[in-house]
Amino acid sequence: MKLLKKVTYSSAALAILAVSGNVSANHTWNDYHWASKSNTINLKVIDSTTPNWDQELNDSLGAWSQSSSPFIFTVASSDDSSRTRKRCTMVSGQMRVCNAAYGQNGWLGLASINLDSNGHISQGTAKMNDSYDSYWTQAEKNHVMCQEIGHVFGLGHTSEDGSSQKTCMDYSQDVNSQWPNSHDYQLLASMYNHIDSYNSYDDDTGSGGNGCKGGPKKCGKAKGNNEFGLGHKVISADKYEVWVEAESDGTLTVHHVYLAEGHH
Ligand SMILES: [Zn+2]
Ligand SMILES: [Zn+2]
Repeated sequence: MKLLKKVTYSSAALAILAVSGNVSANHTWNDYHWASKSNTINLKVIDSTTPNWDQELNDSLGAWSQSSSPFIFTVASSDDSSRTRKRCTMVSGQMRVCNAAYGQNGWLGLASINLDSNGHISQGTAKMNDSYDSYWTQAEKNHVMCQEIGHVFGLGHTSEDGSSQKTCMDYSQDVNSQWPNSHDYQLLASMYNHIDSYNSYDDDTGSGGNGCKGGPKKCGKAKGNNEFGLGHKVISADKYEVWVEAESDGTLTVHHVYLAEGHH
């Protein structure tokens, strides 16, 4: 567990994070979760990965939908042009998974979630950075893919000191830490044990997500792609950072950065 320390909020909108900022003791990520009217969430996943990440994506989704996990997935492929994968545009009510050469910018993996006005996750992306070729052993590919996707469900880390809990949500290089463990499934089940008054995921009824199909003019600007980068850094730890950015529509996008440094 890692406590929030020295957090500076620069606007009232960001202050709500302070209220829910430190619930990491139970390994959730600030209790962030998707809103759901039932205990099963059929989450649409946009596959914006190239073939060299397809296996890792499939295996992670398979693992995250096992056992008592509340999630099942409907996967749709997108075009995997470099432009699409680099932009990795968020889609309302869905999770998009991308890989690209994002540059040697310090991060191996990046999970981003957009929170609606009730604080529920309403869309998210998981990105893998191909610019760090040398890091990507098979075990590390599995580990980071699995962890970034776990963050998009609202999971935090089980540890950050390199110790192994035999889950991809730790920061160890144990070969047994490539996939979720039973604790993760139990945690997800308890996080999603309650019933919300609406679905924040795209459930095909138009109630999930914003149901908007169209370009930025009709549906508003894509989230998490501000020109100033990731917004405000609110957590800076050895192995990861958390950034928050206020969107023009009043929602927040929260980024979890898996740092390449300290990772050797
Ligand atoms: Zn809820
Ligand atoms: Zn992480």
